[in-house]
Amino acid sequence: MAQAKSAFTRILVKLSGEALMGGGDYGIDPAVIKRIAGELQDIREMGVQVAVVIGGGNIFRGAGLARAGMDRVAADHMGMLATVMNALAMQDALEALGVQTRVMSAIRINEVCEDYIRRRAVRHLEKGRIAIFAAGTGNPFFTTDTAAALRAIEISADVLLKATKVNGVYSDDPVRNPKAQHYPRLTFDKVLNDKLNVMDATAIVMCRDNHLPLRVFNLNNSGDLTRIVRGEEVGTLVTLE
Ligand code: UDP
Repeated sequence: MAQAKSAFTRILVKLSGEALMGGGDYGIDPAVIKRIAGELQDIREMGVQVAVVIGGGNIFRGAGLARAGMDRVAADHMGMLATVMNALAMQDALEALGVQTRVMSAIRINEVCEDYIRRRAVRHLEKGRIAIFAAGTGNPFFTTDTAAALRAIEISADVLLKATKVNGVYSDDPVRNPKAQHYPRLTFDKVLNDKLNVMDATAIVMCRDNHLPLRVFNLNNSGDLTRIVRGEEVGTLVTLE
């Protein structure tokens, strides 16, 4: 398919684990992961280098397990391993489409995937492979949103694209409050001061302090990812000023 050219050289897409569930409440919906893989393939074919960070909330969330009585560190280890499972599923879906993909884990698990090594990750991207960064930051008490900010900064991505279920950032939950105001643009400081529900504060501060622009978009709007990569204003752009 002839594609428009990308407005970016290198991007990092953050997918939550929940995005892979579709209508279910656990695990992975094969139809959904196939659709997302197709969208990643489309943007890859536009010439942009694509890195992906996947969450694990569709399988395990450390905080939830800890609330149920588990030791938090062990629970977070389970959460990180859940992200590895999602990464392998996404790799499988991408490879089924013929897209070369490498999974790189922050926790060493060599029989399953590569270790995350920044220079090697950049090399994969330069060769046109999609690099999926799994196991978050490799440390408990962090989130995959923070991992996405960290990895995007490390690999010098032009932008962090955070996939959600709504069309960007709103003054309130747009699902519950139809009067919630949509913000086409925001500053990181406003996100922090107004406690807007975008990403956790650690992730936002990482983006702010390292001048990494963040765009929040609706993954359920098929084609929005392509429009963003083409340079269109879709969702909400969060920047320093
Ligand atoms: N996690 C962690 N360290 C990290 C990233 C993730 O311990 O750097 C664990 C944590 O338990 C988290 C789980 O992995 O709850 C899944 O990640 P997250 O909740 O960010 O997934 P998402 O909400 O994006 O599906």
